[in-house]
Order: sequence, then C-alpha cells, then structure tokens
Amino acid sequence: MSKVAIIGAGFGGLALAIRLQSAGHQVTLIERRDKPGGRAYAWEKEGYTFDAGPTVVTDPACLAELFSLTDRNIADYVDMVPVQPFYRLYWEDGRTFDYTNDDEKLFAQLAERGPGEVAGYREFMAYAENVYREGYQKLGHEAFLDFRSMISAAPALMKYEAYRSVYAIVSRYIKDEQLRQAFSFHTLLVGGNPFKTSAIYALIHALEKRDGVWFPKGGTHALVRGLEKLFTDLGGETILSTAVAELETEGDRISAVVTDDGTRRRFDAVASNGDIVHTYDALLRGHPRGKQAATALKRKSFSPSLFVLYFGVKREYPEVPHHNILFGNRYKELLSEIYGRSELPDDFSLYLHHPTATDPSLSPPGRSTFYVLAPVPHMGRYKGDWDAVAEPYGDRLLAYLEEHLLPGLRENIEVRHHFTPKDFSSELNAHLGSAFSLEPVLWQSAYFRVHNRDDVVRNLYFAGAGTHPGAGIPGVVGSAKATAKLMLKDLDRQEQLGRYTRRQAPPRQHSAP
Ligand SMILES: Cc1cc2nc3c(=O)[nH]c(=O)nc-3n(C[C@H](O)[C@H](O)[C@H](O)COP(=O)(O)OP(=O)(O)OC[C@H]3O[C@@H](n4cnc5c(N)ncnc54)[C@H](O)[C@@H]3O)c2cc1C
Repeated sequence: MSKVAIIGAGFGGLALAIRLQSAGHQVTLIERRDKPGGRAYAWEKEGYTFDAGPTVVTDPACLAELFSLTDRNIADYVDMVPVQPFYRLYWEDGRTFDYTNDDEKLFAQLAERGPGEVAGYREFMAYAENVYREGYQKLGHEAFLDFRSMISAAPALMKYEAYRSVYAIVSRYIKDEQLRQAFSFHTLLVGGNPFKTSAIYALIHALEKRDGVWFPKGGTHALVRGLEKLFTDLGGETILSTAVAELETEGDRISAVVTDDGTRRRFDAVASNGDIVHTYDALLRGHPRGKQAATALKRKSFSPSLFVLYFGVKREYPEVPHHNILFGNRYKELLSEIYGRSELPDDFSLYLHHPTATDPSLSPPGRSTFYVLAPVPHMGRYKGDWDAVAEPYGDRLLAYLEEHLLPGLRENIEVRHHFTPKDFSSELNAHLGSAFSLEPVLWQSAYFRVHNRDDVVRNLYFAGAGTHPGAGIPGVVGSAKATAKLMLKDLDRQEQLGRYTRRQAPPRQHSAP
C-alpha cells in the first residue's frame, strides 16, 4: 500500500482519489477551500442554494463507474434526474429553439427552419457519433506521454478533419445561421471558441444525445458530496481549508508536501488537480523543472474567464426551463473579441441557470434560484479593475435578462453575489483567472497538453482541466482515469522493487547494548 497525496478536490481530484483508494492505496486529499468541488463549489444564502459552476452533467456512466469500482451504486449516494429540454436557445429577434434528444420535437423544429435541415442534422450526428467513438471512447482516458502516441492517433484525426473548427463542420451540414450557433456553442462549455476549437469536440453532441443531460437533486454540489462520502467510506482522508504551499524534492522525486500551516508530510507519489501553472510555478519552485515548465506553459493560450452572477428572486418563472442560452446579435465577432482583445465587449451572449425548474428545494417556497454567466476575456487580456467593474456589469446583465426573459426581475431580487476573473485567480489559483485552463485547440490537445505524469519529476502526476482530454466534468473524470492507470502501474512497480530490495539487503546488525 503506497501513500499518495492529491492536491485539490475538484471533480478530477475526487475521481482520482476514489480510483487510487479503491485500489488499496492510502490517499490524502488536500483542498485549500472549506468545501470540496473546486469550480463545482456551492454557496447557501438565506435559503437559496447556488451551484458555483458546472450544471450540465453529461455521461453519468463515467461517474457511476467510480462507485462500481467497489461494487457500490451511485443511486445510494446521489439522486440524478434527467433534464428536458437540454437547453432552450433564444435570439434577439424573438426566435427560440429547444435542444433535446426527443427526435420528434427536434425534427419538427428543424423542419420549420428550412428544407434539408433534418437531413443535414442527421449527417452531422453521424459525424458526431464517429468522433465520439474515436475521440472519447477510445482516447478520452488514455495518457499521451510521448509523441508516438500522438502519431498513432493522427490517422483518425485526419479522417475526421480535426484541423477544421466545430463551426466549420456544423456549417457543412446545417444552413440556418441560428442553427449553426445552436450546434456549435457547446465548446464554450469547455472553454473553446467554436470558430477555433477542433471539430473533434462535436463529440459533445453524441455524448448528450446518447446519455442525456442530468442534474443531481440538491444541485451539482450534491454530486460532489456523494463523491466525497464515497472516498471517506473507502477510508480516504480529506484535509480541507489547507493549501499546499510547496512540493519538496530529493533528486527528481517529490519527497514531501508542505502545507500552509507548516506541516510536512511524506508521500510516495503526488498528483495535482490544482492549476497547472500554479503547480509548477509556485509549488515546484524548489526544483528547476518548476520554473522551466511554468515558463513554457505561460507562452500557451488560455481559455477566457467568466463573470458569474448568482441571484435569488422572490417570485417564480415557471415558463423558463432549467438551462437557457441567450445569443446576442453578434456571435463570431463577439467571440473573437472575448478570445482575442483586451477590452470588455459592450454586448454579451449568456448562459442562464435556473435550477429550481428541476429542483424547487434549491430556494425557499415560491422563489427561484438563478445564475447567469458571461464569457469575458481573461486577466492577461482585459486588465480592468474587476472590483470596480463587477457591480455595474452585473446590473447590465440583470437589465438585459429583465428585458428579454425575466420580467419584473430587478425589483424581486433578494440575494445577489458575483464571481469574477479575479476570484478565479485568488480563490482557485487559476492562471490569468481562466475558467477552463488551457484553450482546447488542436495544438494544445492530447500530447500537447500537460502530461498526466511529469516528464522529469517522476512521481508527480496531474489530473484535471489542464491535462488530456480537458475541461468539463466528463473530461476531468476521464483525465483522472488516465492518471490512475499510470499511477497504479508505477506504484505497483515501486512496491515490487521495494520488496525485492528488502529481500536482497543483508540482515540488520544489532549492536550490543
Ligand atoms: C461557471 C462554470 C460553469 C461550468 N459549467 C459546466 C457544465 O455545465 N458542465 C461541465 O461538464 N463543465 C462545466 N464547467 C467546467 C468544469 O466545471 C471544470 O472543467 C471542472 O469542474 C474542473 O475540474 P478540475 O478537476 O480541473 O478541478 P477544479 O474544479 O479546478 O478544482 C481544483 C481544486 O484545486 C484546489 N487547489 C488549487 N491550488 C491548491 C493548493 N495549492 N492547495 C490545495 N488545493 C488547491 C482548488 O481550490 C480547487 O478546489 C464549468 C466551469 C465553470 C467555471
């Protein structure tokens, strides 16, 4: 049995901790915040429960697998309910589109948009299915440690034109511009610009279509709590409100983890679920590899940040479904400004979360819980003072929502708070306040992302959004699976070596008293 430390209790850290603990190792999970979850944190205010981040849960099987490793059932830990429609999409001309895997309803809406759209959609879904099989089922939880692994994936990448963007592929099959937006915006959920993100990410459509969109009763944080309970039931140790301050090394191995309370603990292996730049730059600062890897990473392109406004309202909106996307009049131009410019755009495209549509227990009776998020440039681009900007920016979002979707909103708000790029940076140690780590473009994917095991410090591993396959719950849970496979093999080899070395060692000489 080896002793392993995992830094950070996001979905990736929790999934890795469960896999290693299930395999019989002694795992300590160290999290700087007072609750696990990372980007999936939660707040409770005056009877309203707000999930901080992920709300669209896809591929529930990747989560159920964590329980079945030890013959447990996810249903004993968390109640997952399906959400329909998956999303309602709104445009400023008043048109809407309900995205669902109910083909009858979907095809009727597609047919209304013009001749050929149903057939085009079918062809697009056949493409999405293929990239799902190649990109997700086969490669979604494999570690790309050397260039050879990338070369062996190349034929599939070429066959499915991974060098094209999601928007370009969607446009090949779909004619209506609003539908093109409807079938390409998904990459934004993992930090990618649909005009730049590899077409491989069309696999998200197949993922949703096959397995649906789910929501845990009690909110996404109920799922986090279920994972934490499973880890504890397995005998794992969680240390909260404690940040890892430094990774000490002996030669090219980590020997100890030092936390901000000054405690030094020795481990056989360490995995970081924390931000990749923070891990190399701040935690591995005592080893030359830290500076070298951090410098290389800082040259890469990071996903934008988000401004998220959480609000509790003393009335209900029964006509508004759970997941809502509001497209502004500019799509491509707005996205290129968010991804490439240093100003905060005046207009927005928004995601609105309305969890009380599925689970009314998330607010007091007769009331509603919401959050609205706007993608914004990260702090390496937009250098404005978020402490000054946040309040008026939030006011503008609320005015927009009131005008387009939620009448009477502002006079009924009881509770309100926000999370800005500055909070991503200070609360989560996120480089540049990025909400999703490295941008998911082809040249930063697979082998070109942070490796699941460091190339130099051989007992340092990574799991989470900065590693392959990338951000999103299924992505980081898949990265934990890839990392666990590597770690289990390495730890097993180390244990065998330890047993062999002990057998070969001459018997200890006991000196006379
Ligand atoms: C607002 C928002 C909405 C999203 N919506 C969706 C969605 O609907 N569906 C979806 O699938 N994905 C969504 N995502 C993406 C998804 O939430 C993330 O990609 C995923 O949760 C990241 O998980 P992770 O394992 O990388 O860890 P993180 O969640 O980033 O957690 C890392 C943890 O490490 C801790 N940490 C950092 N440094 C240290 C240190 N030195 N010591 C100790 N602990 C440390 C942090 O406190 C944090 O808890 C959303 C993201 C955001 C921000």
